[in-house]
Amino acid sequence: MEAPSSSRHAIGPKIQPDTKPDITELTREELAAWVRDHDLPAYRTGQIMRWLYQRHAASFDEMTDIAKTTRSVLSDHFIILSLKKQHIESSSDGSQKYLFGLFDGHTIETVLIPEKTHYTLCISTQVGCAMGCRFCMTAKSGLIRNLTQGEIIGQILRIAKDVTGDRPLTNIVLMGMGEPLANYDNVMRAIRIMTVDPDGLQLSTRRVTLSTSGLVPRFEDLGRDSKINLAISLNATENATRSRLMPINDRYPIEQLIDACVRYALTPRGKITFEYILIQGINDTVLDAQRLSKLLRPVKAKINLIPFNEHSGSDFKRPDESAILRFEKILHDNGYTAIIRRSKGSDISAACGQLSARR
Ligand code: SAH
Ligand code: SF4
Repeated sequence: MEAPSSSRHAIGPKIQPDTKPDITELTREELAAWVRDHDLPAYRTGQIMRWLYQRHAASFDEMTDIAKTTRSVLSDHFIILSLKKQHIESSSDGSQKYLFGLFDGHTIETVLIPEKTHYTLCISTQVGCAMGCRFCMTAKSGLIRNLTQGEIIGQILRIAKDVTGDRPLTNIVLMGMGEPLANYDNVMRAIRIMTVDPDGLQLSTRRVTLSTSGLVPRFEDLGRDSKINLAISLNATENATRSRLMPINDRYPIEQLIDACVRYALTPRGKITFEYILIQGINDTVLDAQRLSKLLRPVKAKINLIPFNEHSGSDFKRPDESAILRFEKILHDNGYTAIIRRSKGSDISAACGQLSARR
């Protein structure tokens, strides 16, 4: 038996130094190289991927149309998925929050949200987050580390197994813990398996949305490398307030952000979603709504208003209902598609901005 690691081939991010690597950490090209190095026929690459991503195999033994000897070579070298489901909490509105344990003892959270016709899964891309937004619980821990390709996809694979019957899991939002564009390479590796690879998860790019706090220099890369939807956490209409809420605004102020959105490579009917948390007395006035309408004029935009979800890590308050509706009306009157996104799962701290992966 060979050493239980890929000593013959580099296989992407090295994790789990003391055990076998996770096969879902490999890109298609890396798996194909491994297959070639082990004198296996090239078609095995697609076959293995279909077992992993379309048939959700939990062990190599399940891959029954692959020769037994090959299956044992695979299990000598790899494990399938390092994520461990540690806890599931259910909200009264039907959403569920999963706590996953990572190989190094850290934990992340993922939220499964039922919609009328389908499920949406809100996945994490980092353990913690470095961005320091004042309204967000995830910011409290700072950045601990980036998630790997296999940890990002693993959240979908582990939970897809629990979704049976009534509705399919078709929509993915990268809006959990972390700033996805600060973990660009691993996020892109995962997105290719989610959307591009014919033997991958085969999700529609129209149903995958990446939300960013505004890491402007990465926008061009994202527009070039993928056709998934872009959402931007704007949250304020002038720099003083935005910088106060989101320190990243000092590096990439509103003008630069909007400029990058104007240049962003959208599909012909595509729009950029702007997320705007409504916080009482901070950014919820009539003037703010008017400024927002003006600011987004040059962009193909739609707006998600998110009434602030209160939590123990912040003194901010949610505006009262009349202020929320007044804000929405001004945007509608100015011709925008704006919806009030009532976050689900607030009774289990699973709503936007409440994830901390602390039990
Ligand atoms: N880091 C990325 C994605 C994760 S945050 C980003 O910032 O876009 C996902 C969304 O939750 C963001 O739009 C953010 O503005 C919002 N959010 C954070 N804290 C919130 C809170 N307490 N109430 C409501 N929305 C919040
Ligand atoms: Fe990070 Fe997004 Fe939270 Fe800001 S809102 S701290 S970018 S996770």
